[in-house]
Amino acid sequence: MFKLNICSHPTCKHIAVSQIRNNTILEGPGYCIDHSPNKEDIEQAIFEYILKNDKIVGLNASRMNFYDIGFTGKKFYGCNFQRCSFSNINTEGSRHRMCFFDFAVFADCNLIETNDQFTSFAGATYSHVLYTNSDLIHNNFSGITAYQSSFDDSDLYNSRFINASLYNTSFRNCNLKNTDFSNITQENVSFKLANTRAAIFSEGMNPLQEKK
Ligand SMILES: [Zn+2]
Repeated sequence: MFKLNICSHPTCKHIAVSQIRNNTILEGPGYCIDHSPNKEDIEQAIFEYILKNDKIVGLNASRMNFYDIGFTGKKFYGCNFQRCSFSNINTEGSRHRMCFFDFAVFADCNLIETNDQFTSFAGATYSHVLYTNSDLIHNNFSGITAYQSSFDDSDLYNSRFINASLYNTSFRNCNLKNTDFSNITQENVSFKLANTRAAIFSEGMNPLQEKK
């Protein structure tokens, strides 16, 4: 799991980003991305570390911006991407275990066929994001906002979407067993061919009940 080093700047409470030397994540103290004296070098080192390694463990990249990068097939364990932004990222076939993407912003990303477990996306924002054909088991999507995104053909077993706001987003042909959609706000959301009876909805909100 990533080290929770707080930024060394005297008044800052943000989490320090990982420093990389010789393809190794250092454990010592550091600065958050905004207070890093050599911000661009640190960002570049983190991009290169991810691109160079297939298995990434304990990386802290909190509040960084990722754009136009392919993370295809990468395996992430215990990494911190809280409040990061991802734009035009391709993570097809990648895997996340015990990772944190809370309040991250995803725009125009291809996350097709990802395999995520015990990972938190709480409060994240998705626009034009394709999660199609993914295994998304035991994840926390509570409080997400999703626009024009697709979870089609995915396994969402035991994941939580509590208080999510979902617009023009589809869950077609998903496994929704124990998937918790309590208190969601939804507009033009499709659950076609998904087993919504096995999912948890607030009373009166189950899409099957609405059609009566
Ligand atoms: Zn700082």
